[in-house]
Amino acid sequence: MVLGLLLARAGVEVTVLEKHADFLRDFRGDTVHPSTLTLLDELGLGERFGKLPQSRLDTVSVPGPPALTIADFRKLKVAHPMSRWFRSGTCWTSWPRRAGPSPRSTCG
Ligand SMILES: Cc1cc2nc3c(=O)[nH]c(=O)nc-3n(C[C@H](O)[C@H](O)[C@H](O)COP(=O)(O)OP(=O)(O)OC[C@H]3O[C@@H](n4cnc5c(N)ncnc54)[C@H](O)[C@@H]3O)c2cc1C
Repeated sequence: MVLGLLLARAGVEVTVLEKHADFLRDFRGDTVHPSTLTLLDELGLGERFGKLPQSRLDTVSVPGPPALTIADFRKLKVAHPMSRWFRSGTCWTSWPRRAGPSPRSTCG
C-alpha cells in the first residue's frame, strides 16, 4: 500500500488489490512503533495519523510483583519516543481511501 501511494504520487496509475474486505485480523498493527511513526512523518501522513483515536504507550511492563519494565520507548533518541495503540482494523480499513491525495490511486 505504501509503494502504491509513492507510485501514485509520482504520477503512476496504481490499483491496490486486497483480497479481504477489511484489515480486521489478529490485532495486526494495533501498536504503531516509533520507527513507523517516523515513516508516517516522512510520507507526510504523521499529522493525519495523529488525529485518529489512539493512546500513547511509553513503556511495556510485565505485571508483578515486582512489575518488570521490559521496554521504555522514552529512552529512544527519535522523533516519537513512544508507541501508539489504536483499534487498527477500523482505522487501517479506512486509511487507504483517506491516505491519498491522488486521483491515480484506487483500492480494489
Ligand atoms: C498477529 C500479528 C500481530 C502483529 N502486530 C503488529 C503490531 O501491533 N504492530 C506492527 O507494527 N506490526 C505488527 N505485526 C507485523 C505486521 O502485521 C507486518 O509487519 C505487516 O503487516 C507486513 O506488511 P506487508 O504489507 O508486507 O504485508 P501484509 O500486511 O500481510 O499485506 C499483504 C496483504 O496482501 C493481501 N493478499 C495476500 N494475497 C493476496 C491476493 N492473492 N490477492 C489480493 N490480496 C492478497 C493480504 O490479505 C494482506 O492484506 C503483526 C503481525 C502479526 C502476524
